Amino acid sequence: MTLKIDINPIKAWLPNISNPLLISGPCSLETEEQVLETAKLLANDKRVHVYRGGVWKPRTRPGSFEGVGSIGLKWLQMVKQETGLLVGTEVANAQHTEEALKADIDVFWIGARSTASPFVVQEIADVLKGTDSIVMIKNPVNPDAQLWMGAVERVHRAGIKNIVGIHRGFTPFRETKYRNYPNWKTFIELKRMLPNLPVICDPSHIAGKREYLSEIAQKAFDMGMDGLMLESHRDPSVALSDAAQQLTPANLGKLLDKLVIRYENTDNPDFENQLDILRNRIDSIDTELLEMLSSRVGIVKQIGQYKKDNNVTALQINRWTELMENRVNTGREMDLNETFVKILFQLIHEDSVRMQTEIMDD
Ligand code: PEP
Ligand code: MN
Repeated sequence: MTLKIDINPIKAWLPNISNPLLISGPCSLETEEQVLETAKLLANDKRVHVYRGGVWKPRTRPGSFEGVGSIGLKWLQMVKQETGLLVGTEVANAQHTEEALKADIDVFWIGARSTASPFVVQEIADVLKGTDSIVMIKNPVNPDAQLWMGAVERVHRAGIKNIVGIHRGFTPFRETKYRNYPNWKTFIELKRMLPNLPVICDPSHIAGKREYLSEIAQKAFDMGMDGLMLESHRDPSVALSDAAQQLTPANLGKLLDKLVIRYENTDNPDFENQLDILRNRIDSIDTELLEMLSSRVGIVKQIGQYKKDNNVTALQINRWTELMENRVNTGREMDLNETFVKILFQLIHEDSVRMQTEIMDD
């Protein structure tokens, strides 16, 4: 399903943007000095567009730093006046949203825990109704593209057109090197359903550790994402939340210098011609693949009939084990990914058994 709703491109609210959208700032606003010093350092780097900072912090367990609260909104106003950057914060209920609206905050983001709750999203959308706010929606903590899309729709139905998705990874179900596993396919699914929704990546919350930020940020550009949200702090070692994943503004600059920015298209006609030639070849190979699968089906059906006539079962486990081993080995010799070959032949085999049992039940 593809939903064509009128969501604005980033350029609609940032007309001078010429590089990917970049949002940076501390995980949490802590003191006026920390907020302003970090903001001034970031504003010196012209690649930064939006200053972020959490005022109300959703912490996994109570008792840790839960944000400075409303006073932080005043500091964000100061940042806006002194640096000219747009400012954004997380809102997680109607009261946060009302206060942030009053404080003239430009970007409201809905956190991963909130996106997972349609009631919360609706409550926020109701307050924003009729404003021209910029609303960013993080993926829900569980990899559910429909739930993520539902949140976008709720905000859009409140008349908001300036919407951006933020991919921040998903709660891992087993130990991984990252804090939240990226599961890029959920992002792809969201883009398939909402092709004109700009989506940026939040490598900080995916990584959990500074050392992994650049590989995730590069992957985001390789996947054609529209920008990044990266946490930064004047001195990450003393940060009150997410200390291990924040960068100094100087190190943020260094990280950005190394990233290769990719575009979905280029103006280079040679590239287009060459790409067309290669794509035509892929198209004909795919047709051949389908033709081969179709002749395979013909033989599978013949075998099904033959088994039926001889009272032999559709599923013969020995044959299946042998076939699988053989295909995986052959695939490996051809440099094909083992898991891919396994899954492919599992699907092919499942469908063959299905067809043969149908023949038998006829
Ligand atoms: C954050 O951006 O600081 C934050 C709490 O993010 P998330 O909702 O992605 O956990
Ligand atoms: Mn954080």
